[in-house]
Amino acid sequence: MPIYTAALIHDGNRFLPENSAIVVNENGEIIDILFHEIPTEAIRFAGLLCPGFINAHCHLELSYLQNQIPKHTGLVDFLIQINALRFQNKFTTSQIQNSISQAEKSMRANGIVAVGDICNGLDSLQQKKLRNLQYHSFVEIMGILDNNAAERFEDGKEIVAQFRQLHASTLVPHAAYSVSDTLLSLINSLNNNTPISIHNQECAAEDEWVRNGKGDFQKLIDSVLQRSFLPMPKNNSSLVHYLQLLQRTANILFVHNTFTSAEDILFAQEMIPNRYWVLCPNANLFIENTVPTIIPFLMQQQETICLGTDSLASNDGLCIYSEMQILRKHFPTINSEKLLQFATYNGAKALNMDSLGSFQKGKTPGVLHISNWVRKQEMPEKQNIELLH
Ligand SMILES: [Zn+2]
Repeated sequence: MPIYTAALIHDGNRFLPENSAIVVNENGEIIDILFHEIPTEAIRFAGLLCPGFINAHCHLELSYLQNQIPKHTGLVDFLIQINALRFQNKFTTSQIQNSISQAEKSMRANGIVAVGDICNGLDSLQQKKLRNLQYHSFVEIMGILDNNAAERFEDGKEIVAQFRQLHASTLVPHAAYSVSDTLLSLINSLNNNTPISIHNQECAAEDEWVRNGKGDFQKLIDSVLQRSFLPMPKNNSSLVHYLQLLQRTANILFVHNTFTSAEDILFAQEMIPNRYWVLCPNANLFIENTVPTIIPFLMQQQETICLGTDSLASNDGLCIYSEMQILRKHFPTINSEKLLQFATYNGAKALNMDSLGSFQKGKTPGVLHISNWVRKQEMPEKQNIELLH
């Protein structure tokens, strides 16, 4: 049974003391962790060993839209373009399927072992059947008109049923601005529908739209509905509004949080015991040309932070390591021990994937080797990653 040791071992929560080792069986199961004793037969690696990375937010089905949308358009124009491209049908089924397969392959090469993946349809189902990666499928629904809420809900449930034949899947709202209160309440009526993911405050206009019923989102909503729509002002921030309509016991993954306020973070802390803040900084830079400035405040709840890549429509690659690097660049005080925890343990917890995310006896988290990461606080610019198990 192989015993691995390395200059640095991070167990998902912290760096292990020097002269530690992990015992792994041929199925990748962690059999033991050894502290301060390295048997002579141990295999010694240069650099770092850590659990496989968890991508807590991706849209595999949008992989064919890589390089289709210019950077820095802002969210409203980005979504208008996504919507237009999806309905133009200029890509063939095989182009879409190939892009999904290539995107999955690149995630594996980047050390990702599990993905929280958003699905609007069944495009990613075939690839997921191959079980190259572990997935939680979040079947996303939207609809701001009350008269089609029941239909959207039923359609979504049918898609969930298909993905559930492969792995755990849940029905989730797209975002506060794209679901009606009726649709949100229908989602909330489901039992065992956890974790839930929601795109949260990705641009400044979201709060203005929910709170006051006006602003830049009018253009998006009118363009999607092909008619003018008058919303009801909710007199609350987007997050406060929708949390009043969602179950308190579910894991809730707030995705992006680019324009979330400290008050909203404290409100969520009060209301939702199992909350997770999913950061996708490369996508935020791609779309809004900013990163969430709230991150230093959020570090008070650092056990709730996880990382996602978003889709290839809004990112140059699907790489959790690259998300860690961008965070490090913008917030140099976040140490690498924490970044690795966001990338592994926290993501697994958010997705309810108990066997992943940490080196603990009985788990099969994947063993990543980054050969050129040799000093704790010095993340190499270009990483050499291989997945040993
Ligand atoms: Zn997204």
